Amino acid sequence: MADMTITNTAETADTGQPTHADKRVLLAAPRGYCAGVDRAVETVEKSLEKYGAPIYVRKEIVHNKHVVKTFEDRGVIFVDETTEVPQGANVVFSAHGVSPMVHQEARKLELNTLDATCPLVTKVHHEVKRFAKQGYQIVLIGHHGHEEVEGTAGEAPDVVHLVDGQDDVNALDFPEDTKLIWLSQTTLSVDETMDTVKMLREKFPHIQDPPSDDICYATQNRQVAVKAIAPKVELMIVVGSQNSSNSKRLVEVALQHGTKESYLVDYADQIDLAWLEGVNSVGVTSGASVPEILVRGVLDLLAEQGFPTVEEVTTATEDLIFSLPRELRPSRTNRE
Ligand code: SF4
Repeated sequence: MADMTITNTAETADTGQPTHADKRVLLAAPRGYCAGVDRAVETVEKSLEKYGAPIYVRKEIVHNKHVVKTFEDRGVIFVDETTEVPQGANVVFSAHGVSPMVHQEARKLELNTLDATCPLVTKVHHEVKRFAKQGYQIVLIGHHGHEEVEGTAGEAPDVVHLVDGQDDVNALDFPEDTKLIWLSQTTLSVDETMDTVKMLREKFPHIQDPPSDDICYATQNRQVAVKAIAPKVELMIVVGSQNSSNSKRLVEVALQHGTKESYLVDYADQIDLAWLEGVNSVGVTSGASVPEILVRGVLDLLAEQGFPTVEEVTTATEDLIFSLPRELRPSRTNRE
């Protein structure tokens, strides 16, 4: 490992200037694994321990190339659909959640299901079910084709309307007396979501807000940390995969808050050294599905390239832990 010093700074999202002109790295905190990803990864780990390979996982357990590859090497088989899993086998549902239809398919195939859906995604599923039952039309703000919104919308497909920007809002048409509420995907940009809500309110002034935030604490905390750093760095490197919604939002947030260049990389070796030319300050963060070892790789590379000083900027601390699916919790006797 290259020489590297990490110091810690706690601060709020202000727009202060660098305190010194040396080449330096500002490292966002919080970054990386959230409680939902931690639980999903541990669900696969414990399933491997308890049942042995092969374990089937529907879709990527979390949207990170490294995590998926590491599990594949250990005998995990990732499939796109439950129908690809052999009858009676063990299958884990990913952190992004699944629709009731997928649960039905699993029952038909008599699969042993281990559900790693993040409890904060499940919360949005419950909201959809509750408001659909109460006769609402539900505007779901989210990204077309994302697994999470497919699962959430699947709870009440007839009354959920997915919107992703102005065109989708323009296309909505409800009679005036329609009971209307908006909900959202958990991993969106907070600011962009509020822009969409503003458009919705202009068109449907009576639309109701969700009972609580759907954009999860981890997504919000990682964006706040990026906002604190973005005005102080010339380049922001976000570690994360291209299909990770919350990681991609971090790149956008960095660019919107003052960083000139920002890139999403899975691994340190994807950093183009030309990005560092003439740059004195680099911000580093990672999406909620990214193991810390990948961030260390980026910091090592930066140290080798003349950025040995790393200042960690902490805007929040996180201590949330979700318990494992019931089938994988230690039994009482094992705990005694
Ligand atoms: Fe859950 Fe949020 Fe993590 Fe997604 S990003 S797994 S919703 S805590």
